[in-house]
Amino acid sequence: MKLESYIAGHWTAGSGDGRPFCNPVTGEILGSVDDSGIDAARVLEHARTQGCPALSALTFAERGEILKAIADVLVANRDKYFTIARLNSGNTKTDATIDIDGAIGTLKVFARYGKSLGAAKAIVEPGSEQLAKEPVFLARHIWTTRPGIALQINAFNFPSWGLWEKVSTALLAGVPSVAKPASVTAWLAHEMVRDVVAAKVVPPGGLSLVCGSGKGLIDALRPMDSLAFTGSADTALSLRSGAAILRNAPRVSIEADSINASIVAPDAAPGSALFALAVREVVKALTIKAGQLCTNIRRIFVEKRHLTAFGEAVAAELATIAIGDPADAAVRMGPLVDASQQAAALEGINRLRQEADVICGGEHPGSLQGADASKGAFVAPTLLVCSRPEEATTVHEMEVFGPCATIMPYQTIDEAVALAARGGGSLALSLFCADPKLQAQTVRGLAPWHGRLLVVDDEVGKNHTGHAIVMPQCVHGGPGHAGGGEELGGLRGLRFHMQRSAVQGSPSLLQELANDAAEAGL
Ligand code: NAP
Repeated sequence: MKLESYIAGHWTAGSGDGRPFCNPVTGEILGSVDDSGIDAARVLEHARTQGCPALSALTFAERGEILKAIADVLVANRDKYFTIARLNSGNTKTDATIDIDGAIGTLKVFARYGKSLGAAKAIVEPGSEQLAKEPVFLARHIWTTRPGIALQINAFNFPSWGLWEKVSTALLAGVPSVAKPASVTAWLAHEMVRDVVAAKVVPPGGLSLVCGSGKGLIDALRPMDSLAFTGSADTALSLRSGAAILRNAPRVSIEADSINASIVAPDAAPGSALFALAVREVVKALTIKAGQLCTNIRRIFVEKRHLTAFGEAVAAELATIAIGDPADAAVRMGPLVDASQQAAALEGINRLRQEADVICGGEHPGSLQGADASKGAFVAPTLLVCSRPEEATTVHEMEVFGPCATIMPYQTIDEAVALAARGGGSLALSLFCADPKLQAQTVRGLAPWHGRLLVVDDEVGKNHTGHAIVMPQCVHGGPGHAGGGEELGGLRGLRFHMQRSAVQGSPSLLQELANDAAEAGL
């Protein structure tokens, strides 16, 4: 099987042999990905000339209906996608649910936003400002669709969610998407786009897919285009410093690696429900998708007197997890996505050992269910302890993209807040704390450094959506090390694809503009 690209309204194969992708449980090659010979500038130009006018002519409600129709296509083919996610990403059912149902849910949420914005094509912010002594000269901010394309480059770990969360905001804003999935897991994105194209629910030029290296796409970006990139910090650096990006200044959003953290407050003591909830979340971080989530907990700060108990509780839970082939329903943890990711994770763990000691894991799993360790990309869930976090650097700065996290002691909650900030800015932080006053004080200190804050107390209990789970209603992105990007975040997710202009003029002009627009506080 060789994956084709959907460009300029046709499925097109590359002219080379391509890059293979495999089943990470067995190492078996499943197919290849190749875009050699494809003219990247032509791909983007088709989307600009066909997709831009087609989508911008629609109302928000009509675009919302397209998102709903895409979600319906994905729901109808859901079982097939779960099989692909298992074969190509080594996903268990839970893993695949996060990727596939997460995508469907996000599309539906943005479909509802479209409905709520109704028959408008532009947005006006509430209220106007009087700029002259007499109320004859006013200003009001208006948001209009940018006449460019959205280039969306995704990481391997969310071939479904990464694709559709980016398409959701672009399409609702009226901007065509050119999506490039990561090569090693492109099969799922390819299959989904094939089904959506076959269903004819997106106007011509509204959605293109490049399966392959994506060579030349960045160079073809123009001023009204945008680049939304998700992947490693190294790739982000090389892409964002490309000549076309610097010269043409398309909008750029980067979602890069992130050294996320959890803080277990002193009142979440061993034996308490809150302590158990924190342990549960760390166990999830070390097992779901074999730890390959960008928002995953990488560092856990625990009050010094509770540190040993916390490490023992997590290790005890991990010992019960069946690892192996997700085809076996009893298996709760699958492999990493391929052998190179396995090697990178093991090497990363070895680097962490210079500052931390392994409590459990740290190598290949001792036993596997239905899988051969010599063929599969398995890594044992690994918990380390770093007893001097204030002197450590690697543990705060290096992301091991696998089932790996490090617990560290703190003396005061302020110290924990400062240690969390040593990650240089992250996507997500969770705080397990019962005292509302301490929660609020800690959140205020944490907020500038972390894109999303999950605060769990006894009232929230098990009702939260999880540390790692991105909700379409909430900001996804983080400052500094996390890339500085911002995706989703409810209606505000549209801002990246729209231009905010201050219109200064007469009250009647502003009234005329408002008559045709939806009012929203973007
Ligand atoms: P990666 O190696 O940086 O690749 C990311 C994407 O960039 C892939 O689609 C890759 O294509 C593409 N790419 C590389 N060079 C390119 C070029 N010159 N032109 C166009 N595209 C190019 O990252 P990854 O290994 O897939 O993903 C793992 C990383 O992503 C981790 O660090 C993780 O933390 C991060 N991540 C972050 C988030 C977030 O939301 N913040 C979410 C998920 C993952 P090929 O696959 O064809 O090489």
